[in-house]
Amino acid sequence: MKELKQLVRPNIWSLSPYTSARDEYKGHEAKVFLDANENPYNDPINRYPDPLQRDLKARICTIKGVPEDSIFFGNGSDEAIDLMFRIFCCPGVDNAVAIEPTYGMYGVCADINDVEYRRVLLDDDFQPSAEKLLAAIDGNTKLVFFCSPNNPSGNNIDRGVIDKVLDSFDGIVIVDEAYIDFAGVPSYLQQLSERTNLVVLQTFSKAWGMAGIRLGMAFAQPQIISIMNKVKYPYNINQLTQQRAMEEVMQHDRVQEWIDSILKERERLMKEFAALDCCIRVYRSDANFFLARVKDAAATYNYLVERGIIVRNRSKVALCGNSLRITIGTVPENNALLEALKNYK
Ligand code: PMP
Repeated sequence: MKELKQLVRPNIWSLSPYTSARDEYKGHEAKVFLDANENPYNDPINRYPDPLQRDLKARICTIKGVPEDSIFFGNGSDEAIDLMFRIFCCPGVDNAVAIEPTYGMYGVCADINDVEYRRVLLDDDFQPSAEKLLAAIDGNTKLVFFCSPNNPSGNNIDRGVIDKVLDSFDGIVIVDEAYIDFAGVPSYLQQLSERTNLVVLQTFSKAWGMAGIRLGMAFAQPQIISIMNKVKYPYNINQLTQQRAMEEVMQHDRVQEWIDSILKERERLMKEFAALDCCIRVYRSDANFFLARVKDAAATYNYLVERGIIVRNRSKVALCGNSLRITIGTVPENNALLEALKNYK
């Protein structure tokens, strides 16, 4: 990898970050806080939250087996995606390379930040080619995005390809593992200590069942994390989110139970969906959703909407013509979908 200084935008490298009152004072033993212009009434939400979410990081580092200074929390992993562009890509100059189709926010963040976004088409099995990805990279490529399991295709991306890009590319490689808990393969977190150019994204929105509190994670070498901390909004994770996440993390045994039932339902729902008249093909899934090619995606989608069942029509996405993306729900929810489609002519 290039020196980090060569990869980070010069204005970000030299940035003096905002220092908040809660940054300057870190101890817990003080009783009188007259430093942050807060209202002394309405305890406890009158106080600004910990800008670095230290208590939560202390819990997550044991669960994930990653040092605390390699963890970043964002307002969803979407915040971390946007930060990658803001930190590494000079608008109008640098570019990012990504597999296509994939999660739409990489391209949207590239557009917002005026960064060229190079889409490298997957093959018919939704797998990338290392050669094509490396051919799309040039001297101004700062970021390469992988999403594994991939959204919307649902499959794990070939590790050989990710490893090859990690080995050969001298910029930052982002592996978005939003759906890793359903994947049945090891996380790239295992490679974090030996790969200085690796950023792994995970989230509390999927297996952890906390999409509503907006909490995402990025894992990387401490120098990258400290730059992310410098650029983020000072109090990006609010107090209610930090508190609720702590409570949930304390009882994280439930998460494995949810994963187990979702995986069991995934197998059943995919099998039964494949047997429906409207279905042409169900694609392999390593996530909590699957992609299915149907005879007429728009008509099927509208039919389901009329019955109060909402799936995602991905037909306009590359390689996903006439395809619906279906999230695995509870047993009754999945039954409602199947029953409705059994009656669909
Ligand atoms: N990455 C992928 C691949 C996703 O599918 C999503 C959400 N659908 C996200 C990231 C964003 O997740 P979060 O809720 O943490 O912002």
